[in-house]
Amino acid sequence: MENRIITSGLTRREFMGASLAGCAMLALSSAGLSTDASAQAKGPFELPPLPYAEDALAPVISARTIGFHYGFHHRGYVNNLNGLVKGTPYEKMNLEEIVKASATSPGQAAVFNNAAQVWNHTFYWNGMRAGGGGKPAGELGKRIEKAFGSYENFRKEFVNAALVQFGSGWAWLVADGNALKVIKTPNAENPITQGLKPLLTIDVWEHAYYLDYQNRRKDFVEASLDRLVNWSFVEKNLAR
Ligand code: MN
Repeated sequence: MENRIITSGLTRREFMGASLAGCAMLALSSAGLSTDASAQAKGPFELPPLPYAEDALAPVISARTIGFHYGFHHRGYVNNLNGLVKGTPYEKMNLEEIVKASATSPGQAAVFNNAAQVWNHTFYWNGMRAGGGGKPAGELGKRIEKAFGSYENFRKEFVNAALVQFGSGWAWLVADGNALKVIKTPNAENPITQGLKPLLTIDVWEHAYYLDYQNRRKDFVEASLDRLVNWSFVEKNLAR
């Protein structure tokens, strides 16, 4: 139950019949890319649809970035995962169960990395929206002020976490019990393996921003916080 929001896009049962291939082909074709190489691998997991059009986050994140990021990177993790779980007990688990089980199992790094990256990307897309960002209103705004002193402090702390993450990774707003915290994780690491509840994430792998911002990760993260954060998604995650 607690996982319903995040994993709803990720199980076979929920997503059979969704027009996923159509979404991805649209993304690829408008990025000017062939869709031939994007054939979906057969397996229990499917690429969840983007919650908006691929150009919806422009100019903060271009349609070209989303086309590659969603259409190749996210899709690639789904395809890899399908190959890795074939004929294993993971085939019968949902994505969050795989992330948790593989995180603590020796020799399961590839399963963990691909499963967590599928999870992280779906969560990331849902945490962004056109016309979002800035200080959240209402109860959530008060929670953030209480936890960080002010919204500005929260913003600074989040940007700093994104910047000090050396190399690839993720910046997160999480709930640790009743406390709100900003953390960073390297590579595919996900806060659920640390018993934390993810509320919001921004992808700071270079593929998330290099086409639009080159080496200016700070500008990308600040623009995303100021103009894209889907605070109602954060509220829903907090209430789970
Ligand atoms: Mn990514």
